Amino acid sequence: MLFCYNKVMAPAAHEIYRFLPKIDCGQCPAKSCMALAKEVAEDHGKLSECVRLTPYGLMLIEGLFSQGR
Ligand code: SF4
Repeated sequence: MLFCYNKVMAPAAHEIYRFLPKIDCGQCPAKSCMALAKEVAEDHGKLSECVRLTPYGLMLIEGLFSQGR
């Protein structure tokens, strides 16, 4: 049996949501901030789909991924 120790664990949706705009503007395919957070956490959504995400918010979310949380 093989194990992959290099796979980065995605942060939980609620952690990603903390740094999204939380205004539910509906301009991304997910239509709400929590829905997009869940999609990103489950690896089938992209942060670039958020048209309101600031560079600072993006940096904080990317930090979550680099921490392997
Ligand atoms: S585009 Fe961004 S701010 Fe608007 S609902 Fe989607 S995640 Fe939230």
